[in-house]
Amino acid sequence: MSQPISKLVSRMNESATIKMAQLARDLSSQGVNVISLTLGEPDFDTPDHIKEAAKQALDDGYTKYTPVPGLVELREAIVRKFKRDNGLDFAMNQIVVSNGAKQSIANVCLSMLDEGDEVILFAPYWVSYEEIVKMTGAMPVPVLAGVEQDFKVTPEQVREAITERTKMIIFSSPCNPSGSVYSQQELEEIAAVVAPHEQVYIVSDEIYEYINFTGKHASIGTVESVRERVVTVNGFAKGFAMTGWRLGYMGAPKFIAAACSKLQGQFTSGANAFGQKAAAYALDADLAPTYKMRDEFLKRRDLIISLLKEIPGFKVNVPEGAFYMFPDISYYFGKSVGDRIINDSTDFCEYLLTVGHVGTVGGDAFGEPNCMRISYAASEEDLRTAVERIKNAVAELK
Ligand code: PMP
Ligand code: GLU
Repeated sequence: MSQPISKLVSRMNESATIKMAQLARDLSSQGVNVISLTLGEPDFDTPDHIKEAAKQALDDGYTKYTPVPGLVELREAIVRKFKRDNGLDFAMNQIVVSNGAKQSIANVCLSMLDEGDEVILFAPYWVSYEEIVKMTGAMPVPVLAGVEQDFKVTPEQVREAITERTKMIIFSSPCNPSGSVYSQQELEEIAAVVAPHEQVYIVSDEIYEYINFTGKHASIGTVESVRERVVTVNGFAKGFAMTGWRLGYMGAPKFIAAACSKLQGQFTSGANAFGQKAAAYALDADLAPTYKMRDEFLKRRDLIISLLKEIPGFKVNVPEGAFYMFPDISYYFGKSVGDRIINDSTDFCEYLLTVGHVGTVGGDAFGEPNCMRISYAASEEDLRTAVERIKNAVAELK
């Protein structure tokens, strides 16, 4: 029997984050004590008051289809949130709610990109950007900023990368996987380079907005010269510990929001009703639980930096947001133990998993093969044990 698989799926890579998380789970289910620092997922539970709002919504009958771009009350809350937190002005018909920020990004890419288009990705980038762009037939153009420049792309690099075919730029700040945060000034400088290229749109992924240790979040959509060409993506997964609720959203130019809504209407329809109702409540409610989680992440960041610095050959930056470390581990490439040679970051992470029993994700999938990603959304005890195991495992490599 033939087993037909489309070209679209055949040419796609599996999500490296999800794959490594599954490998860690598999090993764990064989009885091995594995510490998985793979998935970017807060280890906190959704705050109780948001859960209560969802239960209430169920009792109130929020069990039906919703408008494709989202419940009116949620879109209204998002409009208020964009204004309050980001200084961004959107009308209701510029907001589209989706099943996670991942779908928001896929919606924008599928709505705007064609074969032959180029999409600049600030590297290191979140794994799915590359695959989503490739899905549309467009070409990802990574622009790499390594640890020595705090993983932040400069305006000069953007200038060099833009061509007549560039249709879009995608980046996240705070960044997954580097934790780097672009300041208002840095964004203004990048915007100044993009502004004269009228065919270029910017997708600004701000899903880690609330996990920012600088106290200042900047949105490139506030910069006048590019304002009309920015799609701002955000979601509930990280700041509200709601990964499993599958809710994300965008604020976009009207024609893009309309296209995304049309696409979503043939694909998944409106996101789940009672979740949206609770999400609307969350945006206007007290953000204290969110800031408590952020403060906890900051403590863990400081801990893990001090621990990682003790490992020979690890080069680390000081991430200002999100909950990832992205050390440069290229010092170990070419080293071996027995007949096992570490050629790249994937080999390195596989070695750490199978020998050290610590799950991490190789930097290759994030467009920076010299690094690996460690999610520190884990308990202090697990972080200490995990780094100790990593230290012992790499000590064997000669
Ligand atoms: N953007 C970034 C940078 C992410 O790390 C993730 C993964 N959480 C997403 C988007 C997707 O988020 P969601 O779970 O809302 O689909
Ligand atoms: N975005 C998270 C991560 O980077 C969750 C997994 C995924 O969706 O890729 O690990």
